[in-house]
Amino acid sequence: MASRTYRAEAIVLKTNDFAEADRILVLFTRHFGKVRVVAKGIRRATSRMAGHAEPLTHATYQLARGRELDVLTGAEARAIYPDMRDDLALIAAGWYVAELVDRFTADRVPSAPLFDLLETSLRALDAGIHAPTVCRWFDLHLLDRSGFRPELGECAQCRTALAEVTNAWEPAAGGAICTGCASRLPYVAPLTVRALKSLRYLLVSDLDSASRLRLDAPLTSELDRHLRGFLRYVLDRDISTTHLMDELRTLPHPAPVS
Ligand SMILES: [Zn+2]
Repeated sequence: MASRTYRAEAIVLKTNDFAEADRILVLFTRHFGKVRVVAKGIRRATSRMAGHAEPLTHATYQLARGRELDVLTGAEARAIYPDMRDDLALIAAGWYVAELVDRFTADRVPSAPLFDLLETSLRALDAGIHAPTVCRWFDLHLLDRSGFRPELGECAQCRTALAEVTNAWEPAAGGAICTGCASRLPYVAPLTVRALKSLRYLLVSDLDSASRLRLDAPLTSELDRHLRGFLRYVLDRDISTTHLMDELRTLPHPAPVS
């Protein structure tokens, strides 16, 4: 008979409180995929594991197999990303990548490449790498590793090479399309040359190289728009965290302390 308890390295994607003091954790584990577990009594002041039951905590969890949900019995922290938690824009980006991993995965389907992608992104946010760069890099690599890589080399519709002009972005076609195909559609989003080049660069780069890309405000918002549209098309729904990120952008920046 298989052992009743097991250990799993995991990152907490989200949590839901229930009953008097319990909490369900959605863990994304390195080896077993996404697993829902119950942390009993975790919301009591005396709980020794409370610090490990917050979203975006990276820990090794000890779990016992249960009838419906496995039960959390112990935890050793690996990373809590303290600098990311100190900054609203960074933590919102952390929630964003966690939400996307949750949306792109089914329960108990192992995917070490997605685990690495999530871990790398959280570590980069904690290191203070520009949040939009991390998010757009993450979007492209998530799509790639999930089998939805956008077409960036040739027209996704007619397969001719894309000329170095403003082309168009059409998620329903699978990525970039040429001006000829775009002219036959009632509405398309223009795709500037530098946005196309940035998308290509982000897709082939590791996050270290990606972080050297200079994204000014117009380019940041163009890339955000295109990838948001693409993800919405693939998922057939909005990503809730993007609304929070939009609201954060409209907040006035605090005055520098002199
Ligand atoms: Zn075309």
